[in-house]
Amino acid sequence: RTISGLQRADLFRDSAYIGGKWTVAESGAKHNVVDPANLEIVAAVPNMSSNDANVAIKHAQKAQAEWKRTTARQRANILRRWFDLLHANRDDLATIMTTECGKPLAEARGEVAYGASFIQWFAEEAPRAYGDIIPQHAVGRRLLAIKQPIGVVGAITPWNFPIAMVTRKVAPALAAGCSIVLKPAPETPLSALALARLAEEAGVPPGVFNVVTASKENTPEIGKELTTNSIVRKITFTGSTQVGKILAAQAASTVKRVSLELGGNAAFIVFDDADLDAAVEGCIASKYRNTGQTCVSANRIYVQAGIYDEFAERLAKRIRRMNVGHGLQAGVDVGPLISKEGWEKVSRHVSDALSKGAVAIAGGKPHALGNHFYEPTVLTGLQKNMALIHEETFGPVAGLYKFETEAEVVELANDTPFGLAGYFFSRDVGRIFRVAESLEVGMVGVNEGMISTECAPFGGVKESGMGREGSKYGLEDYLEIKYICMGGI
Ligand code: ADP
Repeated sequence: RTISGLQRADLFRDSAYIGGKWTVAESGAKHNVVDPANLEIVAAVPNMSSNDANVAIKHAQKAQAEWKRTTARQRANILRRWFDLLHANRDDLATIMTTECGKPLAEARGEVAYGASFIQWFAEEAPRAYGDIIPQHAVGRRLLAIKQPIGVVGAITPWNFPIAMVTRKVAPALAAGCSIVLKPAPETPLSALALARLAEEAGVPPGVFNVVTASKENTPEIGKELTTNSIVRKITFTGSTQVGKILAAQAASTVKRVSLELGGNAAFIVFDDADLDAAVEGCIASKYRNTGQTCVSANRIYVQAGIYDEFAERLAKRIRRMNVGHGLQAGVDVGPLISKEGWEKVSRHVSDALSKGAVAIAGGKPHALGNHFYEPTVLTGLQKNMALIHEETFGPVAGLYKFETEAEVVELANDTPFGLAGYFFSRDVGRIFRVAESLEVGMVGVNEGMISTECAPFGGVKESGMGREGSKYGLEDYLEIKYICMGGI
């Protein structure tokens, strides 16, 4: 099998990558990768087990012993070559990504650039992992704090950003001098394997970056191996809060460092004094990108009473014009949901809201294209008792909730166990500071619906996780501080 239209056929890989070798599962088992737009099988990759993961961890340990001794500049140069290769192969990477995850090709191209930006960023950060010389507390002593790579890292990533979620973990790990064993999502291993092919070409030594592929069924045993094997010193995960809790509990047995980027339930607030056109555009960018399947997607949209009807009408007008289809077709704005389960959740949330009194002013039902397609939807009349308010919908559905006062909406926004991102639109400078400081989240967009960049710290509070990715803080997550006290001076 292959994916048609690739300029470089070797970027389609259907083997795992362990210890610098393209390899099959010990058991010989395979699992299928499916195009979510037409449900055709596009590849069969190794369905690995905990034994395979164990082998990968050993390779990573061996490789790290050498890798940590390289200079930061040497590592930076390799990362820089990897970054260049992502750009040189942007079209192929985008085609592979759209084929396995369904997002429109233009978005996939955007993600390749976004994913590559983390490699560039951490190539630049690598030589800047400074330590400190600390004024001594006693005569005849000198105190130092140095930074060292944590060691072997285990990483588990989701399907919604098949490249960016991988580079956001692998690039800082490699920059810091760690090696890594990655288990990509069962739905999207091909993007991760293409990245590994390019890393190999860039000169990443064998065993430093390993990719272990597996089906949904085999995933838990690989997660168990990565979180309980004492060679692995850090686990980094992006995915649901439910799975994050399992991994954190498992990792406790060997006291690993844990970074978790988990579910969100972002509030998107539009105040009476907002620039309405900007708020509509921000809402579309935040809500409908990747068919609403991003953890920072606006999930609950709170609109102040004075502009509620006007905002709803302007948003619905734009949404009714959106083109739905296969991501590889020109002019498509919204692709399919990733899976039947994802599609069912969206359908359930909409039916639940409609049965409790909400009104669909755009969309509101499964799309005529069938399969995992759902109509881009705007619902008015949201109430607290609806699933759309409490759970992350992960679909192209905007539910609008009417509020009266700033104090009321801040309380509503914070009334959730999640705390990833929050957004609001206002032109009142006092309100901007009050609300930005009051929202219990890791990231706030003020008059902006898209806030992610490699230069800024990405991460959540409460049950949305711990640790930060990207930015100068992102490297720290892969470094340990060692204190050295020298006496007899
Ligand atoms: P979603 O699929 O909704 O994004 P998940 O948390 O289920 O969220 O999946 C995120 C990643 O976690 C995927 O790579 C998935 O295969 C993996 N995963 C799911 N269950 C487990 C588990 N028990 N242990 C380790 N990884 C898991």
